[in-house]
Amino acid sequence: MKTCISCGKQAKRYTEFESPNGEKIVRCKYCKENGVPYKTPSGFEGP
Ligand SMILES: [Zn+2]
Repeated sequence: MKTCISCGKQAKRYTEFESPNGEKIVRCKYCKENGVPYKTPSGFEGP
């Protein structure tokens, strides 16, 4: 399990990808499907 960057919960089902700044971004299935916003430590924001 990994921590979702959007909701901060431990996610069993998640997607992992890299931001343009080379950071690992983990989002759970719920946040991905609902487009919950996130911000990385370097200031990259999504979805
Ligand atoms: Zn989440």
